[in-house]
Amino acid sequence: MYNMLTGIRIGVSRCQAKIKRPLTDEDFTARHKFSFDIVGNELTPSAKYDFKFKDYAPWVFRELREDYFRLDPADYLLSLTAKYILSELGSPGKSGSFFYFSRDYRFIIKTIHHTEHKFLRRILKSYYTHVKENPHTLLSRFYGLHRVKLPHGRKIHFVIMNNLFPPHKDIHETYDLKGSTVGRLYPEEKAAKNPRATLKDLNWINRGKSLELGPEKRALLTEQLRRDAELLKKLYVMDYSLLIGIHNMQRGNRDNVRSNTLKVFSPTVPAIRRKPTSIKGTSPEAMAMRRAMRESDPKRLGAHDSLDLPEKDTGDRQQFIFYQDEGGLQATDEANSPQDTIYYLGVIDILTPYTMLKRVEHLWKGCSADRHKISPVPPTEYGNRFFEFMKAIMRGGGGGEKFKAE
Ligand code: ATP
Ligand code: CA
Ligand code: CA
Repeated sequence: MYNMLTGIRIGVSRCQAKIKRPLTDEDFTARHKFSFDIVGNELTPSAKYDFKFKDYAPWVFRELREDYFRLDPADYLLSLTAKYILSELGSPGKSGSFFYFSRDYRFIIKTIHHTEHKFLRRILKSYYTHVKENPHTLLSRFYGLHRVKLPHGRKIHFVIMNNLFPPHKDIHETYDLKGSTVGRLYPEEKAAKNPRATLKDLNWINRGKSLELGPEKRALLTEQLRRDAELLKKLYVMDYSLLIGIHNMQRGNRDNVRSNTLKVFSPTVPAIRRKPTSIKGTSPEAMAMRRAMRESDPKRLGAHDSLDLPEKDTGDRQQFIFYQDEGGLQATDEANSPQDTIYYLGVIDILTPYTMLKRVEHLWKGCSADRHKISPVPPTEYGNRFFEFMKAIMRGGGGGEKFKAE
């Protein structure tokens, strides 16, 4: 963690210090190397440990952050590198990725597999062009791509991205929806005990839920989802989901014992935060992670009493249609009048290309279940099904039942 943050601080501020210039083709494949050690040199200040850091396509990410995602450069650096900023989240998915929140809860660092890293580099230009042409895209916002290499050669790749959920609002329900219904059920008994769990497609269907959006927002959201899914089909990606966090304004933040100064960490986090970070195993990474966690944040498992959570939406999201109401999208009725729910939504986990491995998984899982309803299907089918499902779950869309396995 220390290495990641030190690397980002030096890498990002190095690039930031230069005068902005138009991007060139080389910028998309560029990588800047930094070597850190306890002595330091003219390029890098002295660090606590020896490690190497690589900043990928720094100029591209700088432009994405500043021109399209409208982040304030100083803010960004501060969020990521202020004193013990990152809370470890454990590894919520099956992939083994680790997630960390910035101290102000606006950013997420996700460690990614080498193949995902290579893939993001390969599609960076398409991603960049898409973001440029679709300022309201729902796709994960990537703010940076980096790598730390430890002295014994171990490499850790990671991205920095937006946290879809706001620091200042409780999320009362969370869904991770793919449009697949096989195995997409979080046990309701477990959900009853743990209201912060991330639920799945079948929970959504069985609970008879729908996205309550009036004609205006429904049309906008549908069109943006269509475009985003088109890109993902073109890039041959699959396995992504629409993450939906629901804030009920009637309930407000009252489930949460918080003081005026927001000393208590919002339980919104817990969808992922819940499993408080016991990193198991004796692999070098696991051991290094544990060590870094102890060092970077001794109060990590405590009351989170020193987190700087902003009380209100920080404003950088306000120019984005789907993030303009308190950082999210407020429900509306058929007359487009606002209702008491705010949705926080976005398309996440978009770096899985349909590789050989997935093809095998598809054939394998397809032996025991409907070949079209399982999660690994070819990208075109995946994208179409995803889009149809999202249309169906909006009010008036007919519901998601028709996707249910017979
Ligand atoms: P798998 O490949 O097994 O699905 P993963 O490690 O790739 O897992 P993701 O699917 O990216 O992980 O995310 C896992 C969970 O973490 C999501 O269901 C969601 O609860 C949370 N999460 C991921 N990205 C974000 C984000 N940008 N904002 C808020 N929460 C997020
Ligand atoms: Ca996922
Ligand atoms: Ca994944």
